[in-house]
Amino acid sequence: MRDPLSTVGTRVTPQSERAHPDQIANSAGGYSFPVDDWGRALRFLVLGTDGGTYYISEKDLTMQNAEVVIRLANGAEGRKLVDLIVDVSKNGRAPRQNPTLYALAACTASPDVNTRRAALAAIPVVCRTGTHLFIFARYVEQFRGWGRGLKRAIGQWYTEKSVDDVAFQAVKYQQREGWSHRDLLRLSHPETPDPARKALFSHITHGEDEALGDPPRIMQGHRLAQMATKPSQWAPLITEYRLPWETLPDAALNSPEVWEALLPHMGYTALIRQLGRLSRIGLVAPMSSATKLVADRLADGDALRKARVHPLSVLVALATYASGHGFRGASAWTPVPQVVAALDEAFYLAFGAIEPAGKHTLVALDVSGSMTMGQVANSPLAPFQAEGAMAMTVVRTEPEYFTMAFSGGFVSLPLTPKQRLDDVLRTMANMPFDRTDCAVPMVWAEHNQVPVDTFLIYTDSETWAGTIHPHQALERYRQKMGIPARLAVIGMTSNGFSIANSNDAGELDCVGFDTSTPQLLTEFSAGRL
Ligand code: CA
Repeated sequence: MRDPLSTVGTRVTPQSERAHPDQIANSAGGYSFPVDDWGRALRFLVLGTDGGTYYISEKDLTMQNAEVVIRLANGAEGRKLVDLIVDVSKNGRAPRQNPTLYALAACTASPDVNTRRAALAAIPVVCRTGTHLFIFARYVEQFRGWGRGLKRAIGQWYTEKSVDDVAFQAVKYQQREGWSHRDLLRLSHPETPDPARKALFSHITHGEDEALGDPPRIMQGHRLAQMATKPSQWAPLITEYRLPWETLPDAALNSPEVWEALLPHMGYTALIRQLGRLSRIGLVAPMSSATKLVADRLADGDALRKARVHPLSVLVALATYASGHGFRGASAWTPVPQVVAALDEAFYLAFGAIEPAGKHTLVALDVSGSMTMGQVANSPLAPFQAEGAMAMTVVRTEPEYFTMAFSGGFVSLPLTPKQRLDDVLRTMANMPFDRTDCAVPMVWAEHNQVPVDTFLIYTDSETWAGTIHPHQALERYRQKMGIPARLAVIGMTSNGFSIANSNDAGELDCVGFDTSTPQLLTEFSAGRL
């Protein structure tokens, strides 16, 4: 007779059954480990919830993440959440600022006075641009009213930044998100003894005809640019007043002469977003001086990082530019190879220096069907494309590596250091998306006797199809091979699951497209963590 006790143990459990008391049911019909609130908050700040996942609608995923953020903001460690928000923002760790601004807004409504104060004090730091401030103003009304403390904090945005900086922001975007600088200045009413700042506030709130004092230089330049009618008039104004393109009338924006004047001082975000247009109007052209200028600016890693250019923005710009047409609309251009190459390098430069761990590293990418859904941080890229690019940071860094993909079984994916990112994205698009078994990398390495120090698995952890759980397969690999192998999970969606067992110091859960992830993986892989 069959012994029922012979079927239940802790060493080999099908993924459709719970293998550890900490595990919870994931969305795919399997069991995974839960990500704690802090891990979840970081996933939210970096990856956002746009497009939901294969299993969870955008609305429900947003609700789940918002609940975590609000719970942390209102809890005993709300202050720690403010510190995380400031860290993510200051160090440019997230591709998009909306989740960070949302979390900050939640913290300004915390019942804990220390959390609230810290959050209000962080407004000028986290809201770096006028647009950030407007987005924050919209979110904050979802949590609280306009009390004195909040008004004072908004006022500090206008008094702590330099007059030139505020003036620049004011001419660049006068209004967004249902808010204008005039609204916010009238609401917050900041006091200043400085005549130049007084004049600035007066020009924003009253308009130039009724304002007191001389406007800041950039506002003078803005006014002159509005009155000008020809490229030969705009170009010298742009150079003299360092005008951003947003201050120019539409008629100016099809002129190569105008963009040539903008190019030397154009912000990086504008630069990488406008490459298609610059090519279309013939400025970034084969062997042109503008092409060289663009390539040189993209090669300046220090400047890229100082401007907090996020690698994901570079990746999207590269994918768009190399394709020769916009994601939306009919605009088309001929890509210039030097610009594509410069974007490819800029992607890695934007991460900062990445040290090799010097370990035998197996890089394994989940290519199951669920990885094709959702938009990473509101970009046009799905998790399967984002993970391919993230994996390249390891491929380019570790001398001893092997790359593979997996769904229900092993999938060949030989990525090489010299491969360009648009080629990697194309390769990823041709994967045979199928079932999910996240234990495949460990099972495959054991079966083929491959000596691995560190498994890096890029996944959404919605594993269900395997006959053994990933953490069990890792333990069996360690036993059979006699190697204390480590496993890092690079989470590619903001769901609440991980295949990493947080009870094991040799397993780590981290967040895809957090700019601090490559260095974190190095520290972990090298055993320094
Ligand atoms: Ca899946």
